[in-house]
Amino acid sequence: MKTAIIILGASGDLAKRKLIPALDRLFARGNIDTTSLIVGSGRTPLSHDEFRGESDCCKPFQEIMFYHQGISGLKTYVDSHGEFERIVIFMALPPKVYGSTAKELHAEGFGDETILVVEKPFGYDFESAVKLNSELTAEFDESQIFRIDHYLAKEAVQNMLVFRFANTIFEPVWNSHYIESIQVNCFEDLGVEGRAQYFDTSGIVRDMVQNHLIQLLALLTMEPPTSLSADSIRHQKRNVLEQLEVVDWCRYQCEEYRSEKGIDPQSNTETFASIELKINNLRWAGVPIHIRAGKYMNRKGTEIGVKFRKLPSILFNQNGDLAENRIIFKIQPAEGIIIDLSSKVPGADQKITGTTMKFCYSDHFGGSEIPEAYTKLLLDAIRADKTLFVSAEESELSWQKFSEVINDKSEPKFHKRGEVPADSCSIEWIDFESYGSICE
Ligand code: NDP
Repeated sequence: MKTAIIILGASGDLAKRKLIPALDRLFARGNIDTTSLIVGSGRTPLSHDEFRGESDCCKPFQEIMFYHQGISGLKTYVDSHGEFERIVIFMALPPKVYGSTAKELHAEGFGDETILVVEKPFGYDFESAVKLNSELTAEFDESQIFRIDHYLAKEAVQNMLVFRFANTIFEPVWNSHYIESIQVNCFEDLGVEGRAQYFDTSGIVRDMVQNHLIQLLALLTMEPPTSLSADSIRHQKRNVLEQLEVVDWCRYQCEEYRSEKGIDPQSNTETFASIELKINNLRWAGVPIHIRAGKYMNRKGTEIGVKFRKLPSILFNQNGDLAENRIIFKIQPAEGIIIDLSSKVPGADQKITGTTMKFCYSDHFGGSEIPEAYTKLLLDAIRADKTLFVSAEESELSWQKFSEVINDKSEPKFHKRGEVPADSCSIEWIDFESYGSICE
């Protein structure tokens, strides 16, 4: 299909660092060819060569790259390069102009052939998300709007669906009869770095939990889709989000945060949060779900831990001290799945110890390239495959469920850099760090 790809905000950080290199990779792989057109656009006056020179792309790819200043005349400019059956427009713009830009694009003549790709944040809270969605859908049909959650493009996240629905051994135990609790952990060793201004108006719940981590949880807990179509998967994610309820939360701030450059010295923004949730459906009723996310931690890692119910105190568990089985999904930086099992220690005694079975991407697929998230997402947008994009309903439901948490402006408790707050909602957290070297 003859495709034009337009990047609005082409002079910005996202365009230069992620989008243009991703398109260059798609060109090198043959997913985009010389019949395609790449147009950068923005208010900044740039020549075609200046735009081409902003990224380190291969020469043949540079030949299909052009720059057009502003939105006015953009459709005519694209049309002057030929007829395109699909026009993908990536809004790499400040979120406050998404709505007005959609209006301008529609007025400019972009119609049914258009796919509008929007970056997070999709609003700031429930009300603004509803407003944004209504502004976008006033100009384009919901089927044309692709909301990016780059977490969904991670191989380990997509593999959760395969793990659950391509193996017969897990689905029968994937419910409250066998699973005791679920924990989602997301630690970042860095602080706010260059994003101080943005982060201080956001906080970790808005930045990570309400969107990325809730999407992971939805994939982990949703009912089997009726097919692998985008609609079917998104329908099941939406259903589980609807049944989600926040039970309790704790907010913390790293002691160093208020003295960071660009941060309000009185700021009550949380840099660490721990949230207890439940899912009110037959499959998950009674299973506590905990999510915690923090910056300024002692390590970087996103993991999901599924704890199975303990054995009754009989047979090998007479003393009740046998550890429960666990499945650990390692999402990043290393990707893999670990299953904790009890095994017999060799010898005459009936001694039992904890052992692990592991699947690591690096062991099995070491030689193959794991596609970078934006490469995968841009290709999906070009192919109009919405599976890894978030629907309007999902984005609104996520905001709605976390309204109380994000509106909590009370002073958070404080913790030292590198120290996990000890009373993170008073639960026994899996020691995810102990799985650290596995798969790395
Ligand atoms: P930038 O702040 O670098 O802005 C991108 C471009 O938008 C600018 O170069 C500018 O180009 C244009 N722009 C700025 N203000 C306006 C305005 N008022 N009206 C119209 N155009 C404007 O943003 P990023 O590139 O960092 O991010 C783009 C989007 O992606 C944002 O929504 C951000 O939240 C999101 N995002 C970014 C990530 C990143 O890694 N950078 C990661 C995840 C999400 P010009 O002046 O030429 O018009």
